Amino acid sequence: MSLEILNADIETCIEPFYKKRLSLIKSLVGNKVLDALLYMPTGIIETLEISTLSKELVNKNIIATVKVEFIEYAFFSKTRPITVTCSVGNTQVELLFFNYKPCYLKGTFDVGKIVKIVGKLSITHNGRYQIVNPKKATFKTKQGISNVYPLRTGITQYVVTSVINLALTKLCNTNITEWLPQEILDKYNFYSFCGSLLAIHKPQISNFSLLNNVYRQRLCFDEIFAEQLAIQISKAKRIKPIHASEIQKPSRELVKQLITTLPFKLTSEQLKAYNEITLDMSKTTPMHRLLQGDVGSGKTIIAILAMLHAIELGYQCAILAPTEILARQHLKLIQKYIDGTGVNISIITSNEKGRARKQILECVSSGITKILVGTHAIFNDKLAFKNLGLVVVDEQHRFGVGQRLALIEKGENPHILSMTATPIPRTTIMSMYGDIDTSSITQKPIGRKNIVTKAIGMDRIATLIEAIRRIIDKGQKVYWICPLIEDSEKLDYTCVIERFDYLFKHFNNEVDMLHGKMSTEEKRDVFDKFISGKTHVLVSTTVIEVGIDVSDATVIIIENAEKFGLAQLHQLRGRVGRSELQSYCMLLYDKSCSHVAKQRIKIMTQTNDGFIIAEEDLKLRGGGEVYGTKQSGHKQYKTFNITSAMEQELINEYIITSNRIAKLAVQNGSVELYENCLKIFKPEFHENVKLSF
Ligand code: ADP
Ligand code: MG
Repeated sequence: MSLEILNADIETCIEPFYKKRLSLIKSLVGNKVLDALLYMPTGIIETLEISTLSKELVNKNIIATVKVEFIEYAFFSKTRPITVTCSVGNTQVELLFFNYKPCYLKGTFDVGKIVKIVGKLSITHNGRYQIVNPKKATFKTKQGISNVYPLRTGITQYVVTSVINLALTKLCNTNITEWLPQEILDKYNFYSFCGSLLAIHKPQISNFSLLNNVYRQRLCFDEIFAEQLAIQISKAKRIKPIHASEIQKPSRELVKQLITTLPFKLTSEQLKAYNEITLDMSKTTPMHRLLQGDVGSGKTIIAILAMLHAIELGYQCAILAPTEILARQHLKLIQKYIDGTGVNISIITSNEKGRARKQILECVSSGITKILVGTHAIFNDKLAFKNLGLVVVDEQHRFGVGQRLALIEKGENPHILSMTATPIPRTTIMSMYGDIDTSSITQKPIGRKNIVTKAIGMDRIATLIEAIRRIIDKGQKVYWICPLIEDSEKLDYTCVIERFDYLFKHFNNEVDMLHGKMSTEEKRDVFDKFISGKTHVLVSTTVIEVGIDVSDATVIIIENAEKFGLAQLHQLRGRVGRSELQSYCMLLYDKSCSHVAKQRIKIMTQTNDGFIIAEEDLKLRGGGEVYGTKQSGHKQYKTFNITSAMEQELINEYIITSNRIAKLAVQNGSVELYENCLKIFKPEFHENVKLSF
């Protein structure tokens, strides 16, 4: 059965008299018939036609025939309305028109006229009935229950509803075979896809709760299921890299050499993770593994070992970092470790330009470069590898799914190792990648001390000066973090400059600063001076948040700590405590901050454990929010929007169930049964990927 009709232009659902608004409608609802069907209401409204007013009708939308008694014009003002006093039978009602010019009302609301109006009835504290900005009822105004859809200027509820209604007629004229297995329909009491859409767009009962009903849940399941199907199909299509079978066991010379020269002993968990990775690489399907480990747990070295292993298998590797500073840090570190092995490494960021860039591209495409470190610049380039076999994605949550895929496509089904310091719930991982394998590092390297964390009021800032002096005298380093002021790069900059000036008075050239207005070269310069010990105090915004590793930095001072989220505070704190030296984190906060902010600061002073912090963060944020935030890496869905912990639980359940069915479908070769579901919920995927294997 073909669903072509759903891909037709939305124009086919627009009544002739709304045609002029085609482009507005498209910008609001979407381009296709399908988009209209999946345009979800955000509320519901019940309208009653009445002949007498009563208290029970307060807060309801009513249609009433009124007689205009008198009009009181205020000067046209934003605050004072025009008041039209009317009667409904023997009861008076005031119609308040805010932001109306008198001429708009003339002719309709003249004294003595009888008008049919529609609007929400309210009551004042002294018992007068009022309706604010009522509309004149038209032939289209009917009593009943109707949806409230998100709107934009120029598009009313009537327009949206009429488009959706036409789309529904088209849908119901096609005969869609059920794609969900009976088992699922029974388990969750789901109705058919068409039935559910009809119920959503033509609601029947007034207490119909929007997000908590089986109709909406069915669509939500469909959308998650389509996603899981797409993930499983892509996975099955990733066949074994050709070269792996040709190359026998690697010699492991490079790896052995590196391990013996390391200045430390790998922990047992690091070794376990490394072994899991190499085992994956010997299998017939490409690896996709997620390496989870708290900040400072030593993930980078595992990535380096994995890359050397891949090089011995004959591959090139790429390691992707979210910021240029981090990419350069990786480059330096890897260079240090592979020194003398003859492995060729290179970097690509937006700052490699002209001839240098051309040369890099050549070395990558000819296969001379074995390890390429890069930022986002890796994607938007004509960069081609000869034989890309392993992609490492550091701080994976900083990259979108699309970007990850783009890099994977540069190789022939390369192995992927994603690394994250933010603990991600299993179901979230599933919705992003399907059921991928994970390795976790829970221990810190041996000898690490807990970071001593103290909270102090902003008023005691001066006491820190002496402490910083002592740290500098010991040859250690200090980060001073100023808050990032949202939407204002200028203010961030001012914060940093002010703090720099203040500290400069005490420490002269020992202090340096880093902020968003600097060029990448300047930033790099500042950072190099800090690492090499030319400077000892670095005032910065949160640019240093991710992954920076300066082992003799032992103090981090976070100014206005109350403005940061828990996860971010933990990430920032992780910049110190990277050696056996005792480290400190000072949280400077404004004592008049909110209770929740104080709770966050308290948790930070109580624990160093990233997993506990993530849990507490969830509690403080009220559960549901995790999904909504960008930080969690979770994307938005079309048919639902998680707002409560209960909904989240339901979604988790759907993810697990649909993952199981999707896997089965791929195993049994029955994915074609679900083609319509993919067509509707994953149209781009359906267009680009052949379902047959
Ligand atoms: P993250 O997991 O946050 O990326 P890094 O890989 O940057 O952490 O490691 C943090 C620091 O710990 C680095 O300086 C690294 O050299 C060091 N390190 C890694 N593994 C060990 C270990 N087993 N023993 C001691 N130090 C280690
Ligand atoms: Mg790291």
